[in-house]
Amino acid sequence: MTDPRPLHVLIAGGGLAGLATAQGLLKSGHTVEVFERDADLDRKQGYYLHFNAIGGEALRRCLPDDLFALYQQTSRQNYDRHQSIVLDDQLNELSSREHMGPPNDGPVPHTGVHRRTLRQVLSARLGPAMHTGSPVVSFVEDADGVTATLADGSTARGDVLVGADGIRSAVRTQLLPQVPVIPTGIRGIGVYGRTPITPELDALMPDILDQGVLMAVDRKGSRLLIANFRPRRAADEAAADLAPDVVLDPVAGYIMVSCSLSEGTVVPPVAEWTDQTAVDLRESMLAALEGWHPAARAIVAGVELESMFAIPFGFLEPADDWASSRVTIVGDAAHGMLPTLGMGANLALNDAALLVDQLDRVARGEAELVEAIGTYEEQMREITYPILRMTLDHDKNFGGGALEEASGDRHAG
Ligand SMILES: Cc1cc2nc3c(=O)[nH]c(=O)nc-3n(C[C@H](O)[C@H](O)[C@H](O)COP(=O)(O)OP(=O)(O)OC[C@H]3O[C@@H](n4cnc5c(N)ncnc54)[C@H](O)[C@@H]3O)c2cc1C
Repeated sequence: MTDPRPLHVLIAGGGLAGLATAQGLLKSGHTVEVFERDADLDRKQGYYLHFNAIGGEALRRCLPDDLFALYQQTSRQNYDRHQSIVLDDQLNELSSREHMGPPNDGPVPHTGVHRRTLRQVLSARLGPAMHTGSPVVSFVEDADGVTATLADGSTARGDVLVGADGIRSAVRTQLLPQVPVIPTGIRGIGVYGRTPITPELDALMPDILDQGVLMAVDRKGSRLLIANFRPRRAADEAAADLAPDVVLDPVAGYIMVSCSLSEGTVVPPVAEWTDQTAVDLRESMLAALEGWHPAARAIVAGVELESMFAIPFGFLEPADDWASSRVTIVGDAAHGMLPTLGMGANLALNDAALLVDQLDRVARGEAELVEAIGTYEEQMREITYPILRMTLDHDKNFGGGALEEASGDRHAG
């Protein structure tokens, strides 16, 4: 049995999973160092994240009370229906199904967040424990600890290394080299942007568009994903009130948009985008929505060109059980999935909470370190793998178009 004591945990990746793990461990009295590849939080990764009680309650577990209140207050306003709703091209309801996750009907239900705000909340108070511009490239484990090597050749030593470095995780690549990323490219809903909610647009929108994340489809196969973000409170004001040491950028209400492109449109790789690319892609979206409800077309016409970006999707197949060690993985590094069920971030945060629970057992002397990590990994696989599989199935109809071709083709890369 490991001596009861707080652990020193190295975390590769300062995305949602890594930062939530860091906050949860600090809350319990452990020490952490987070190594984030990017120099800042500016990479375009999406805007609105749909949340349910899986992710939201994991945040309650990991965050100190004031930062949790800040998450809640900067989240989207309540909506009436906790359902995923599918509409036709005239924005009439076609079908709906309950959101996933445990009951979510408390006084402040979990709704959705602006990703950048949540990342700012999760980064709060990490101080010198947060190292940006510091990718982890490899690790070496021994009986007493683990040493991570960074891209500049320097090293860091800890009791545990957590790979929270996203779907193309360097940590997973070394730990589980047999698990490939299956790239699906940019199809279906791979191009994103956001539209400010002006009074004119607001007046045009049917009420149903205020129900969280919606997918509209037509008979030609065009799809429009929209998520309407109206925060409960302005982020900067909420921070000044609830946690004055935390700086949050102001965010005005917006609609996150992802839309099919007209047939034959080629999306250039991000590095080749010019000023004209976003103009052309927005035109192509409008062409794909020929004859749709005026509000749908106005939402797309209003997409801010500078907000547009393309995400090449990918996913992991569930890995077979592996031998546990001092090195583990959380979030997309462990179960990167297509975004169509809106579950990846929720599950990433849940991993963080499960892992913190297990490392706390070690600190209390209730479990041996590698056994506790094994328990976390078992729980993580049990919860996430069925959802990973479900996402692939759901995607056939409504998602990134990942599996439009025969399933054998998807391994072609
Ligand atoms: C367009 C889109 C919409 C989505 N919508 C939803 C939604 O509504 N709800 C939902 O639950 N999920 C959603 N998801 C999924 C969700 O974004 C991911 O599941 C979530 O971000 C995973 O968090 P993570 O911390 O595991 O990985 P990431 O957010 O990818 O973070 C990984 C971090 O690691 C860093 N990194 C990478 N390599 C290294 C390295 N070698 N060393 C150090 N750092 C490294 C990266 O820079 C990054 O900051 C969506 C995803 C996309 C793309």
